[in-house]
Amino acid sequence: MTTTRRDLLTGALTAAGATVSPRLSEATPADHDHDHDPGGDTQAAPSDPALRAKALESVLVAKGLVDRAALDAVVDAYEHQIGPRNGARVIARAWVDPAYKQRLLTNASAAIAELGFGGEEGECMVVVENTPRVHNLVVCTLCSCYPWPVLGLPPVWYKSAAYRARSVIDPRGVLKEFGLELEPEVEVRVWDSTAEVRYLVLPERPAGTGKLNEAQLAALVSRDAMVGVARVTSGPAEA
Ligand code: FE
Repeated sequence: MTTTRRDLLTGALTAAGATVSPRLSEATPADHDHDHDPGGDTQAAPSDPALRAKALESVLVAKGLVDRAALDAVVDAYEHQIGPRNGARVIARAWVDPAYKQRLLTNASAAIAELGFGGEEGECMVVVENTPRVHNLVVCTLCSCYPWPVLGLPPVWYKSAAYRARSVIDPRGVLKEFGLELEPEVEVRVWDSTAEVRYLVLPERPAGTGKLNEAQLAALVSRDAMVGVARVTSGPAEA
């Protein structure tokens, strides 16, 4: 008889009184996205993170070590309260306040904290500025490191193996697939976020927005522009 890690996890989960839904049971290695395993093939490793997290949560709750309501509050905070609107406020402030922009480019963590944002997954931030000659693109080649306090949780494509690999090998091709075709004379700089340092792109302020106030400017700034896979346009942001 062979006992797999999945059997053990499933056993722990059901022993703790939880049920394994068919969807959870069918979790595939493709769901795996955040094992820090620089020595191995992280994408092919047999792992079921959703199942593992659920089993761990169930055991911790059953033992009275964590409060399920507290966990729900954390998830709710990152899903609904913290997100790219925070980053958009940072960008808009930089566009209207040159002194703030300077602080943002020299000590991003402190400047972002001035607006009340910071903390876990955003302790050490670096902001890189797009100009007519330079376009910045952010990736985490190892896994999915991302600045949560200003952008929320990373989108699925950011965590995909294709984005992580191809952003480094062929950034212009990746940008083209996102609908952003850069002029040949524009230099592309790719920044590899890690657990220690996370990057945020300061996009160019679009032309024709001179009369907009800070809040109106923030409404133009999309998540994708702050990762560097889009530019900011004078229309409303989609994300
Ligand atoms: Fe990562």
